[in-house]
This record gives sequence, structure tokens and C-alpha cells, in this order.
Amino acid sequence: MSGAADVPGFPISLGLRPNKKAITNFNLATSKYSSIPKVIYMWTECRLIFRTVWKAADLNLSTRTPKSRAAAANLFRFRDLKNLKFNLIALSFLVIFLSVLYHELWGKHLYLVTAYCDCPICINIAKFRDRKFASGRKTYWGGSAADSKISFGTEIELAPFWPKDFWKINRILRNRTSFEIEDRGGKIKGRHIDLFIPQSMGGHRTALKWGRQRMRIRLNGELAE
Ligand SMILES: [Zn+2]
Repeated sequence: MSGAADVPGFPISLGLRPNKKAITNFNLATSKYSSIPKVIYMWTECRLIFRTVWKAADLNLSTRTPKSRAAAANLFRFRDLKNLKFNLIALSFLVIFLSVLYHELWGKHLYLVTAYCDCPICINIAKFRDRKFASGRKTYWGGSAADSKISFGTEIELAPFWPKDFWKINRILRNRTSFEIEDRGGKIKGRHIDLFIPQSMGGHRTALKWGRQRMRIRLNGELAE
């Protein structure tokens, strides 16, 4: 049997050897017989060319230099990074949007609600520790301090919303939500309510337990804006 070089048109330059079947088909195709073997030959030849190109591509892939492989890997990683960056940017925008939405609908209406008692820590000016509110009335459980814009005697009501608010009111204020404005304070300015805690309610310890809560309040029955 003759070598591959004898097969006309065979891509010997690519360093591939035609298989036996191809040669057989070629022999058949070049014979004096019918045209059916010629079709078989053409089909086999097409297959061979396809296989050659495929193998060449495969060879090309497998003999890539480490540099080109690294470049390809970097390209992939860069694309991943770009996706990650896009996702992070999208997530940031979502967080900002939700924060602004929360602030506009709820957050900006919240009041800071703190608590105080009549101890020297809470009232550091001795003459104000006279067991009387700024309104002149004797201190009592249910009085509170507020900005001077809210006049004495105004009824305010805490409006709990989150479970934490209900929990704090239940545990520390013993479910009391309504208070009367009776007092003022140097630090009680703007959206700030300071609840008076008498010693019978635990005084300073209870005030500390209450801490700094942020919740909405009702002024004369309506949610304060
Ligand atoms: Zn105190």
C-alpha cells in the first residue's frame, strides 16, 4: 500500500497520516467502478479535513505557552471581577435607595426618647434637684421633659412599632406609653423626649436600662411628623 504522500489533496503538510479506510475509499473512488464509491471517498475526505482542522486546533490549544494560558485565565478573571463590581455597585444602589426610602417614610419622623431620674448624675445642678418639674408641679411618674416648643401639660404618647420598642415599654416602663410634658433640660432640644423615672420605678438604674430609644410619638393623638 502506498504512503499518504501518494494521496492527492491529502493535507500531509499538517503532519497527519491518512487512515487506512480513507486510502481504501480513495482507491475505490479512483477505480473504474460506479460513482457510489466516489461519494464515499468525498465523504471520507471531508471527514479527514474536518478531523485535521480539529486536531490542529486541539494541538494549538494544548501547546499554548504558559504566558498565553495565564492571559486567557486573567481575561476570565477580569470578566468575573467586572461582574462582581457590577453586582456590588447594584447592591450599593439598592441599599442606598432602601435607606433613603426608610428615612423619608419613617426615620425622619422618629424622636429620641431617653430617661432620667432626680439623682445628681441626671440633674447636675443642685438647685434643680428640688423634687419639682420646671412647670412647678411636684415630680411624678408620667412626667417628662421636652423642647420648649412643646408647652407644659401637653400629652405625648409613645408609638411603639418594632418588637424591641414594645419589649422596652413592657419591661421598663411597665406598659406606660402616655406622658405629660412637665420639664425642660439643657440637652433636651428638638426631637428629643426625656422621660422622668422616679425612684419608685427604679430611678437611675431604670433610666440606664431604657437607654436611648428612637420611636415615633403621638402629640394630641396624632403621629408627630
Ligand atoms: Zn439618674
